[in-house]
Amino acid sequence: MYDYLIVGSGLFGATCAFRLRQAGKRCLVIDRRSHTGGNVHCATVEGIHVHQYGAHIFHTSDKRVWDFVNAIVPFNRYTNSPLASYHGRLFNLPFNMNTFYQMWGVRTPEEARRMIESQRLDIENPANLEEQALKLVGRDIYETLVKEYTEKQWGRPCTELPPFIIKRLPVRFVYDNNYFNDAYQGIPIGGYNRLIDGLLSGVEVKLDADFFADRPYWESVAEKVLYTGPIDAYFDYRFGKLAYRTVRFETEVLDTPNYQGNAVVNYTSHEQPFTRIIEHKHFELFGQAVYDVPKTVISREFSTEWKEGMEPFYPVNDGTNSALYLRYKELADREEKTIFGGRLAEYKYYDMAPVIARALDIDLD
Ligand code: FAD
Repeated sequence: MYDYLIVGSGLFGATCAFRLRQAGKRCLVIDRRSHTGGNVHCATVEGIHVHQYGAHIFHTSDKRVWDFVNAIVPFNRYTNSPLASYHGRLFNLPFNMNTFYQMWGVRTPEEARRMIESQRLDIENPANLEEQALKLVGRDIYETLVKEYTEKQWGRPCTELPPFIIKRLPVRFVYDNNYFNDAYQGIPIGGYNRLIDGLLSGVEVKLDADFFADRPYWESVAEKVLYTGPIDAYFDYRFGKLAYRTVRFETEVLDTPNYQGNAVVNYTSHEQPFTRIIEHKHFELFGQAVYDVPKTVISREFSTEWKEGMEPFYPVNDGTNSALYLRYKELADREEKTIFGGRLAEYKYYDMAPVIARALDIDLD
């Protein structure tokens, strides 16, 4: 008999397994996929670690979490500095002095500020996302870098999207392309699988094992269950199904060592149906090392409406789905044997660092 059955070997389940093993508990981790790691799992193609479920960049200002993961595997110095491509022109992101120079040829913060001010619309209560963006950043930035990209992401015109989707569009009046404001960022040296392997070291794991394929059996093997799968599935969808958005990837091996010179390029016009191209090697290879690997692997990302059978990536936190989640959460709070955690069980968009923080803090005995 195990002390814990952990359903799901993603970052949440794996971090809890690590803690439980350190506390001397016996646990079994099961996952319905044929690999561990959940969405941070990487496949190795042509010697390159390919982020199979979307590009993952670790960033945090939480020193405790940063020290925790680095004690398992040291992280590299990758700094996220995406580019945007609009009808063949390239712009640095996030919006900063480099972007403004590329857009208008302005060189000083004062000139850039004046340009944005002259374009911003003075709307008190924006009725839709377009008005909200025009109020925040003005017409040129909106039309070049926000409008069509957002329409591709959501599959609807910006005039039909609610303004709250874009609460802020930060502009920086310094020459700084570092996307994140966090104190720490990087990628595990050797890839994310090393982080997961380190967390699960010494823990028994069974793959291709779906909790629902034989629920009574799995429930009988342990005193307690830590469940990280979809919360609606756990309760047999009795109130209905929660909605998600997802991303479809088209991954290709190219016979060139360096395709786009950057890990992330956003395509901000309707000219291309995809939203981004990820070139995976740039997360982990720098300088000459890029050329030491003769091929490269790229993934085009297509925002897609979620249907049964697809990967549930992003929760849709609108009124209907949030209310539905709360009904499931009420049931979850009454479960005695099962603890719920992670992005699917809490129906919450979680970055990696907060998922780890939550797994470090959750009550496990
Ligand atoms: P998951 O990784 O989803 O793990 C859940 C596991 O449970 C899965 O392995 C699943 O197979 C298993 N499971 C589910 N149901 C069952 C069942 N019935 N039986 C057995 N096993 C089951 N975060 C960042 O910090 N930076 C980023 O750049 C970033 N990029 C992202 C890009 C995308 C496209 C997505 C979707 C997420 C991104 N994230 C990013 C968030 C990150 O992926 C999550 O924080 C993290 O994966 C959450 O871990 P988890 O364990 O909660 O969930």
